[in-house]
Amino acid sequence: MVVPVDRFNETMLPFPLRPAMLSAYSATNRSPSTTAGSRELDRTATESRDWQTQLKTAIRDPHQLCHELRLPASQADAAVRASRHHPLLVPWSYLGRIRNGDPNDPLLRQILPVDEELSDVAGFSSDPVGDNSSKRTAVLLQKYSGRALMITAGACAVHCRFCFRRHFAFRDSLAAPAYWQLALDAIANDPLLEEIVLSGGDPLVLPDHQLAELLEQLDVIPHLKRVRIHTRLPIMIPQRVTDEFLDRLSGLRLAAVVVVHSNHPHELDANVCEALISLVQRGILVFNQSVLLRGVNDDLATLAALSQRLLECRVVPYYLHQLDRVAGAAHFEVPTARGRHLIAQLREALPGYAVPRYVREIAGEASKTVLA
Ligand code: SF4
Repeated sequence: MVVPVDRFNETMLPFPLRPAMLSAYSATNRSPSTTAGSRELDRTATESRDWQTQLKTAIRDPHQLCHELRLPASQADAAVRASRHHPLLVPWSYLGRIRNGDPNDPLLRQILPVDEELSDVAGFSSDPVGDNSSKRTAVLLQKYSGRALMITAGACAVHCRFCFRRHFAFRDSLAAPAYWQLALDAIANDPLLEEIVLSGGDPLVLPDHQLAELLEQLDVIPHLKRVRIHTRLPIMIPQRVTDEFLDRLSGLRLAAVVVVHSNHPHELDANVCEALISLVQRGILVFNQSVLLRGVNDDLATLAALSQRLLECRVVPYYLHQLDRVAGAAHFEVPTARGRHLIAQLREALPGYAVPRYVREIAGEASKTVLA
């Protein structure tokens, strides 16, 4: 499963980056805040420009979440049950975009554990896209020609309930001896690789200087041409797009690509939009990928508004993914016929560049399968 930042420990840190990273997470081993006083503290943190403080103070307690959002205690009880398998984690800056008292809020649905997650549904598995069978080293996965993906971190800023890696054994991968160096060696020894995707978890949970160390090691591998970062952090905590991060990424020899993950226009408030534009202004290509999710974005108005808002933020609406059939997420699935119909409607409503490619990942295939 994706590991909450408060459960990060030394064995999960990338070699040779362990000592410095430890300090970044040393303050995260704390119990969920439930007192009025600590809530006050967390509200203050929401306004902070310090993204690491926001990571540390993220909400982990379903009762606290429901209290803050004026939701009934019965929802908190269900969330406690479901969160035993995939813990709740949501930063305060995201909480502020969720409507109070609305159990159907599309942002809430993405982060609130519910009883449906406990259902065993045929066809839904722990590794729906074949991550485990595509491993070249403990943290290096390759599915497609010329590109490989590094599991750079085992933590995220949020736990999306539909995450296709919610059962991934980050602990095992990140505990393998010299896993970081083995991945870099494999990349350096394979001249057919042109692009490395940093993924996770979320690579941007790494502090800037640690991320820079990795980027610099990739930058000197002569056959690489691009580095791509898959991240939801600029959407969750836009303050993560720091000047140092922008300097490091835009200063590389490698062309830099950032693929963010937003599913609903309400996620893209002014702060998020500002952060995304700052990436573009530094010459970084920025794309968005969404997941088609029942009760979140499976209607024309929402998808059209999402594309429009992404373009306002200078982001290309690149992919709309059919849900990966991961155990615990069946209640989010939208039939592909419905997805195709929505894309057809989008084509009538928007210019072509604003219509994402509707794709599905099939384990073992040489590329994503375009559905529409
Ligand atoms: S941010 Fe990405 S990797 Fe992390 S839980 Fe969400 S979908 Fe999964």
